[in-house]
Amino acid sequence: MYIDSHCHLHLRDLAKRQDEVLERMADNQVDHALCVCISLEDFPDALKLARRQKGIHATVGVHPNPQGVEEPTVERIIALAQEPKVVAIGETGLDYYRVKPKQKWQMDRFRVQIRASRICGKPLVIHTRDAAEDTIRILQEEGAGINKGGCAGVMHCFNEDLATARAALDMGFYISFSGILTYPASKELRKVAGYVPLDRLLIETDSPWLTPQAYRGKTNEPAYVIEVAKQLAAVRGMSVDKAAEITAQNYFRLFGIDPAA
Ligand SMILES: [Zn+2]
Ligand SMILES: [Zn+2]
Repeated sequence: MYIDSHCHLHLRDLAKRQDEVLERMADNQVDHALCVCISLEDFPDALKLARRQKGIHATVGVHPNPQGVEEPTVERIIALAQEPKVVAIGETGLDYYRVKPKQKWQMDRFRVQIRASRICGKPLVIHTRDAAEDTIRILQEEGAGINKGGCAGVMHCFNEDLATARAALDMGFYISFSGILTYPASKELRKVAGYVPLDRLLIETDSPWLTPQAYRGKTNEPAYVIEVAKQLAAVRGMSVDKAAEITAQNYFRLFGIDPAA
């Protein structure tokens, strides 16, 4: 069994071809996927899919980039997170690549969601791009992470250095690798993937974006998570089955998901 710990099945091309994409997941033994919400406007679509589809769970949160969307409050996020199929808060974080110079509203939006996660006890899905230092600092300031009695989560689509991975691991975070791990230029990232403890590893597609090397040029989809599993297995010197099994167990543990749900 393979698990895609981060995808956007309810968005763009994947939403249009949802049945076909779900079928290809089943054919490839990708039995679970986390459908990640990026704004409160698209949350109903993610939830609807999670409710009707076995093996699909959803998150609630607001991505650091969108502007002109409903701004989250702690109360609103907590209320929406009560739904049983909503297993995490996010994706949230900081992105100084798309939004520059850095903006206070982006940091405030992030802080609100860390607070909501701490109160409702559901883990965070963290997005960080060109902003590792501030991301770690704000997580620490807000008491995110199991070591402070709060809730940790996952650093999704990890593409940072070892020091950032260590800081996140110290707070109790899991590290999720995407198709970026399969790109020829990702030598340093593959080293980081060799370092992360086995019980903190996750794999994802972040589809419809970041298609793994083997399928470049096509729209990414959850079935391609197998390519990430293969690369992780190669880095760790283990079988693909073992990499799949470990990342599946980690997924169920982090998000408190019943494998049969
Ligand atoms: Zn992201
Ligand atoms: Zn994403």
